[in-house]
Amino acid sequence: MEPASTYDLHCHSDASDGTLSPARLVERAADAGVGVLALTDHDTTDGLDAARQAAAARGVRLVDGAEISVTWDKRTVHIVALGIDAGNPVLRLGLQRLQRYREWRAEEIGRRLAQAGIAGTWDEARALAGGGLVGRTHFARVLAARGHAKSVAAVFKKYLVSGRPGHVPGQWAELGEAVGWIRGAGGQAVIAHPARYRLTRTRLGRLIGEFRDAGGVGIEVVSGSHSADECLTMAAQARTQKLLASVGSDYHGPDNPYVELGRLRPLPAGCEPIWNSW
Ligand code: AMP
Ligand code: MN
Ligand code: MN
Ligand code: MN
Repeated sequence: MEPASTYDLHCHSDASDGTLSPARLVERAADAGVGVLALTDHDTTDGLDAARQAAAARGVRLVDGAEISVTWDKRTVHIVALGIDAGNPVLRLGLQRLQRYREWRAEEIGRRLAQAGIAGTWDEARALAGGGLVGRTHFARVLAARGHAKSVAAVFKKYLVSGRPGHVPGQWAELGEAVGWIRGAGGQAVIAHPARYRLTRTRLGRLIGEFRDAGGVGIEVVSGSHSADECLTMAAQARTQKLLASVGSDYHGPDNPYVELGRLRPLPAGCEPIWNSW
């Protein structure tokens, strides 16, 4: 088995909102000492073939994954899929539905921004996505480049979150549905970056309960976007709720990463790593 520090089970390529191609991402991960990498693009598995080729060339073990967008309790929650058969027809149909919603939503974001006086963002966001799925991150990069705010994060705050002019409420998969697609495709479902949702303990407990009832098995204890304290909180959740612990950088490319590839915090003691089940 690989040492724990060489696992990274959550990252993005330019098939969704990462900036590196799948091959460049895998190469960078290999250079950083990552031995087991899951490519988990938002609502698509399109990058996996190219990533697998690059991984074979560099001796990296690639885990076929995705990060599925879910609407739960009127908010967006992300579920990471690990070890899926990307050819599974039910999973493919489900992801296609989310991809079509994403396309409509991108156009709608463009319309709403235009109504707010900012024209032409949809075309630019699509061009930036280069044939990959268009997400809010592409709009954020476009608006930041045009000087509407001083950073991508600042654009999100000012334009793309609830209550802001470019916000479109999500209509993603249902929780049980997404977990069902993952299980049906032979994969394991993991709650992505749980601390990012800012849920109360009670609500987090409800999310975990419904997730487990649907057949979900894991929780991201270590995320590039978690503080050290948040990792400890989620480690306690993993232990008490009997969920397997996962780790992932949520890398989107070399510009302002939460954490660089190969630099994840170690998994706190007492958690059962998800890869022990592989
Ligand atoms: P989408 O799935 O298109 O709604 O976009 C979600 C993605 O936007 C996340 O995966 C992040 O990559 C990015 N994102 C969300 N919130 C922020 C933020 N406040 N600052 C920077 N990036 C963000
Ligand atoms: Mn993203
Ligand atoms: Mn996410
Ligand atoms: Mn992600």
